[in-house]
Amino acid sequence: MTIFYVPTKIIIGKNCVRENASLFPALGTKALIVTGKRSAKTNGSEQDVRKALEERSIPAVIFDHVESNPSTTAARAAAELAREQKVDFVIGIGGGSPLDAAKVAAVLATNRIDDETLFSHDFAQKPLPVVAVPTTAGTGSEVTQYAMMTNDKIQSKSFVISDDIIPRVALLDAAYTENLPLPVTRNTALDALSHAVESYLSKRATEMSTFIALESIRRLGRRLPMLRRGASLDFDVREELLTASLLAGIAIAQTGTTALHAMGYSLTYFKKIEHGRANGLLMGDYLQYLLPEHREKVMAVLRTLGLSGVADFKALIDDLVGDRERLSEKEISAFSAIAMKARNIPFTLKSPSQADLEGMFRTSFLP
Ligand code: NAP
Ligand code: FE
Repeated sequence: MTIFYVPTKIIIGKNCVRENASLFPALGTKALIVTGKRSAKTNGSEQDVRKALEERSIPAVIFDHVESNPSTTAARAAAELAREQKVDFVIGIGGGSPLDAAKVAAVLATNRIDDETLFSHDFAQKPLPVVAVPTTAGTGSEVTQYAMMTNDKIQSKSFVISDDIIPRVALLDAAYTENLPLPVTRNTALDALSHAVESYLSKRATEMSTFIALESIRRLGRRLPMLRRGASLDFDVREELLTASLLAGIAIAQTGTTALHAMGYSLTYFKKIEHGRANGLLMGDYLQYLLPEHREKVMAVLRTLGLSGVADFKALIDDLVGDRERLSEKEISAFSAIAMKARNIPFTLKSPSQADLEGMFRTSFLP
């Protein structure tokens, strides 16, 4: 038996927010907008959402303090505002950080629960409906049941997982990503690639997730070489990156991620390496790890990217990531021990031991 579940109404195209204002009244009569500090104000997304709401006479309040890799603190403050202002729905605008904070705020607005209960996905009341307007092309959060929160208690990331936080509507206008700085474009594209690759190489892969993951990999393979230093990217490239990220999000919504993401969390938590970059730095050695026992599948990933082997893949990634951060042996063993406890480890095609993770960290990060 396989299940394929994508309940989000997905709308893609220039001006799709303004042209679909008619979708908002069905969600309620007052909205909470959740964004990061700056980008939504300068890329046109916040203004378009405000205008679409005004057109339908829906008042909105805004929480615009979400930082990258948010903890639940921001989501709790946004939820408090949602309750005070009696809003009916939440619109997340931004990269994965504001989108995930919007999802968690939607849960906490209707459920007064502590972090432990939140991370056990045990909430009695339905969250408020969520709308997602992504402005990076990476996380796929606009279609997933996941929200990732930095969790100091475990010095890593914890998930909130619920079908009830899957956005009702996702509005994807690549124009918002046109001024995304190249390093953010690169890092987020590597996040999308890691989603598609991990989904394809997951024990939970299904026929549908496989087909979608491969199409995401194909699109990324065509565009990744353009993300080297100094590239300028036109609208079509931006839109293809955004749809590749969307497809990768649909794929991980079916399968989840694997050991690669689990290892990446420590790089972000302890070394402040951006989420997508962290996965990108490790991806070549992750493919190398799986290659001996899963040659056919790993080769399918590489061929779909237009490459002929892991060495070519590593060369492409090295070109994109530039100088690598370095880790000490002590960090490698601590990060591997933390990663072994992550919920996505068992979905890895070849179940890793702690020594396997240490091996991948070593090849990626020792000089
Ligand atoms: P992000 O943390 O949301 O944003 C990174 C930076 O990009 C911020 O400084 C942001 O500025 C800026 N930015 C965003 N959109 C921009 C635009 N259009 N133009 C210029 N700058 C822009 O990065 P992200 O990689 O998209 O998200 C990472 C988070 O998503 C992590 O917490 C990760 O764990 C999570 N994640 C979630 C899922 C899921 O399924 N839910 C999957 C993978 C990753 P502002 O702060 O000013 O907006
Ligand atoms: Fe990710």
